[in-house]
Amino acid sequence: MTSYSDTVNLLRESFMSGKTRTEQFRRSQLEALGKLIEENTAEIYESLKKDLRKPQFEAEISELSLIRSEINLAINNLNSWMKDEHVSKNIATSFDSAFIRKDPFGVVLIISPWNYPVQLALIPLVGAIAAGNCVLLKPSEISPNTERLLVDVLPRYLDKDCYAVFCGGAEETSQLLENKFDYIFFTGNPHVGRIIMTAAAKHLTPVTLELGGKNPCYVDDDCDVQNAAKRIAWTKFFNAGQTCLAPDYVLCSERTRDKLLSAMQSTIQAFYGEDPKLSPDLARIITDRHFHRVSGFLGSGRIVTGGQTDETERYIAPTLLVDVKESDPIMQEEIFGPILPFLTVEGIEDAIRFINLREKPLAAYVYSCNAQVVDQFLTRTQSGGFCANDGLMHSTLTALPFGGVGNSGMGKYHGKFSFDTFSHDRACHLRSAGLEKLNEVRYPPYNLSRLSILRYSTEVKRKGGCSLQ
Ligand code: NAD
Repeated sequence: MTSYSDTVNLLRESFMSGKTRTEQFRRSQLEALGKLIEENTAEIYESLKKDLRKPQFEAEISELSLIRSEINLAINNLNSWMKDEHVSKNIATSFDSAFIRKDPFGVVLIISPWNYPVQLALIPLVGAIAAGNCVLLKPSEISPNTERLLVDVLPRYLDKDCYAVFCGGAEETSQLLENKFDYIFFTGNPHVGRIIMTAAAKHLTPVTLELGGKNPCYVDDDCDVQNAAKRIAWTKFFNAGQTCLAPDYVLCSERTRDKLLSAMQSTIQAFYGEDPKLSPDLARIITDRHFHRVSGFLGSGRIVTGGQTDETERYIAPTLLVDVKESDPIMQEEIFGPILPFLTVEGIEDAIRFINLREKPLAAYVYSCNAQVVDQFLTRTQSGGFCANDGLMHSTLTALPFGGVGNSGMGKYHGKFSFDTFSHDRACHLRSAGLEKLNEVRYPPYNLSRLSILRYSTEVKRKGGCSLQ
């Protein structure tokens, strides 16, 4: 059996050979990844069904469709993304060439989680391939069917010398992390994020950490309650709430809460029928351990709708909770399941105060028909991403960066941001070997007239005439 270090060494050798740097090679690997998706769609649906009982509709729009878009975008733009970016110069360097070279880092480690186990492994991979890196991918062991599928299919489509997949959990990943990587891209929870960053620090390896948290959802009195109910229900119960961007809790006034609860009860019935357990459109909790953790939150507050569970299926009904206190267990950690607590606030001021007392979330949501309320919420809170009058949708736009801030992570990806994440901006300056007369001004013996010429030819001047002396 090949050891971790053997694989990392092989990948490094391949990287040093320069093979992954050509546009043609990158393009061929991206095409191959697209082919993998096309030719294994049924197997991917099947593995997601086995792991999470993920509805095919959800698998398609939240996994495969997003990957296809990323591959197509990268192929369409690879040539322009890879181009050197020429930059402005000063008088002293006007005969030179100055540019940013988008240099691949080298050997990248991608560690992915189980909730969207295909796209959270393959979208970072698209960026790493496009940027010309070699990659070691470590999918989550918690979604074993998808893990096996990735281990099986990736080497059949991608160049085996440049891309490898490794299985394992915390112990194996810890051993893997003893090796030196040139970049680590991690998606998972903030606790493990700290472990990854500590291991990376030993080798001074740069990291992107895509983490989670409690995403607030403020519903204003001035809002379209019926539409808000549908959108909140869909974004919360999609993938049975096991979504890093799911609204974690609702903040609203008592008046709005009662209207919203009634609209959401009707919505849940319209979406999933009288008994949601029988609906084919509701996923299941990933493992028994996660089932026990999430169902434990049913003891917080009072159940208005839902609350039913079935351990044999790892089923938890879409549940709405009221009378939840800030000190309740459900408010102490990310819920990551189909349970939505409602907390009442006086208004926008109170909601902003509540949010700002907590860690910065991955997403913040506001539902309001009042543009000023939306703007206040946007301006006075902080989060990785933001969406008004909906949830999740901002993450489907490849032109927007995806990533957290503070406790919800660091760094960003999707679209061109992925390419930039996996590229080092190498500052390049090509000077002439001659033209020495122009350089003599900076050599000793120093004098004041040389200094003023040098300052004139190199310093950035303030716009509008007034400049610092
Ligand atoms: P996790 O952190 O438990 O696991 C993620 C990966 O880390 C897995 O591959 C796992 O094998 C590995 N791992 C686990 N423990 C480890 C350890 N001690 N040392 C080294 N590696 C270890 O996360 P999860 O439970 O799979 O996913 C859920 C979390 O991920 C939630 O917090 C969720 O919000 C977050 N998440 C974030 C995003 C995002 O894009 N920001 C997306 C999905 C999930």
